[in-house]
Order: sequence, then structure tokens, then C-alpha cells
Amino acid sequence: MAMIVAFGEMLIDFVPDVAGVSLAESKGFIKAPGGAPANVACAITKLGGKSAFVGKFGDDEFGHMLVNILKQNSVNTDGVCFDKEARTALAFVTLKQNGEREFMFYRNPSADMLLKESELNLNLIKQAKIFHYGSISLISEPCRSAHMAAMKAAKSAGVLLSYDPNVRLPLWPSADAAREGIKSIWKEADFIKVSDEEVDFLTKGSAEKEETVLSLWHDKLKLLLVTDGPKGCRYYTKSFKGKVAGYTVKTVDTTGAGDAFVGSFLMQVAKDPSIFENEGKLKEALAFSNACGAICTTQKGAIPALPTTNDAQALLKSK
Ligand code: ATP
Repeated sequence: MAMIVAFGEMLIDFVPDVAGVSLAESKGFIKAPGGAPANVACAITKLGGKSAFVGKFGDDEFGHMLVNILKQNSVNTDGVCFDKEARTALAFVTLKQNGEREFMFYRNPSADMLLKESELNLNLIKQAKIFHYGSISLISEPCRSAHMAAMKAAKSAGVLLSYDPNVRLPLWPSADAAREGIKSIWKEADFIKVSDEEVDFLTKGSAEKEETVLSLWHDKLKLLLVTDGPKGCRYYTKSFKGKVAGYTVKTVDTTGAGDAFVGSFLMQVAKDPSIFENEGKLKEALAFSNACGAICTTQKGAIPALPTTNDAQALLKSK
């Protein structure tokens, strides 16, 4: 089975045990494993696919706890390393009444930011069918150089590159730095997934206008996906473009919806790379991925809420 390698951060989100309260008001917090690339790796294995996670953790209880979660989810951890000095990253996340989130990060610097090029398991990366990454690993050195080296190794081995920027503004020195940093690797990717809000942010325009979305297109891109929460997603390739509607579910927490969507889609691409060239197959794959994203919003947290293939098929059949 083809493997997908997800690169970047895994951290612990501390989420108030009651929705709609501020961090200061909250009496208790629930520990939830987080970090988009790690969620994507788990989304793939939950659907029966094969994935690996490459990243660095603090050599502390939280770091080992997170790596155990990857292992329990059958994610390959041969590309994981630990830092003796720095701590595993933490974030406090407020869940607003509408299920949207606000982040407060503790990373000064955290172990994930200290991953060095020399610590990369390049063999693992080169064996993958797809190398998937976000933008948080680009924010500071030495992780940025490690990220660039991993991408270069993947590309030279013919591995497809998948990019979901996952904009997290509080982590960047400024909004302009975020825009510039995120776009600095834009033209490397074969496949890019952004949300409507990210289109607005990156272009300083509106995702509702097609020319704005298309300003994010680049010559070597095979597919640009724009997700829009419950409404589903839009797709753009060289030859065709369109929309695939989302599913109405009882949403309690949107954490990880985008990662469930991406993991599901990448797994389907790993199985059949011709999805990019066949609109019928692409629409089918995206309908399945929309179902995965929707199911992920019906429970608290990201990893515990990830669907199995049966869960997603049941939702598809019910509509
Ligand atoms: P994340 O919250 O993980 O950062 P994102 O902003 O990257 O997510 P979204 O557009 O919110 O991405 O969600 C990805 C996909 O998940 C959507 O295209 C949709 O199919 C599904 N989805 C997200 N939210 C909902 C919802 N409230 N109801 C139904 N489906 C949803």
C-alpha cells in the first residue's frame, strides 16, 4: 500500500471543558492531541491507509504521550525524534459557541521548532507516494531548513507534494510575514488545499470571486481545493473546475475537519493518482472527503472524531 508522510508539528491542545467560556473563565481543560499534520496522518490510518509522521517532540511526558497516540493509531513513527532540552508544544484553545476556535500557543521555542535537517529520516520520506506539510514548520529556523530539505528530497524522489497552509497568525511575527512565508513555497506543491478564509487572507481579496481564487493557481499545480465549512468544497484543475456540496450534521466542534478532509483525499490519491485527471473520480473522492470532514465535527477533538470508511459511507448513503 502506498504511504503518505505528514511532516510538521504535533502538540497538545488544552480545550475548556465547557464550550463558550473564555480561557480565564474556564475551570477545567481537556487535553486533546492536535497539530494538523499529525491529524492528517491519523485520518489516513483510521480510513485503512498507511501513513508516517515526521517531526520532533520534547523528551517529556507529553511528547511520549503524543508519540504513543500516533502508534496507537498505527501511524509509522520512524521519522520521529526527541529534544532533551525543549518541551513539547502546547496550545490553549477556546471553543466558541459556534464551534469555531481561537488559539493561544506556548512555544518558546518548543521541540517541534528545533527539528534539524540532520535529524530527518530521508529514506522514509523518499519512499512515500505523497509528502504532506503545512506552514507552521516554516516559521523559524532550524525547522524551516529541515522542512525545505525534506521537500527537496521528496521532490527529487518523484514524491507528490501536498500543502495545506493552515494559517495560524499568532505564531508569525506579523500578518505580512505569514503571507510571505506561506507563499514562499507555494509553487513547489502538486496539490494545495486552502479554506475560504485562507484565500481571503492570502490574496487580500474575496474567495467568492473566481479570479481571486485563480490568482493562487501556479503552472505546475495539479489541483487547488478550496473548502468552505458545511458548504463543502470547490476544485480547480488545468482542465476542469466545480463544486462538491457538503453534508448537514450536528456540529459540536470543527477541530480537525480540514485535516479529516485532507487525509481522506490524500489516501484516495495514493490509491489512484489518476483522480487528478478524471472529473468523475475527483468528485466522488471529494464527496467522500466532505463526509469525512463533516463527521469529524460531530464529536469533540480531532483524532477521536476521525471517521472510518464505514462511517463515511454511511453518511454518503444517508443523503
Ligand atoms: P479546520 O477547522 O480543520 O482548520 P478548515 O478551515 O481547513 O478546517 P473547513 O472548510 O472548515 O476546513 O472544513 C473542511 C471540510 O470539512 C469542508 O469542506 C466540509 O466538507 C467539512 N466540514 C467542515 N465543517 C463542517 C460543518 N460544520 N458541517 C459539515 N461539514 C463540515
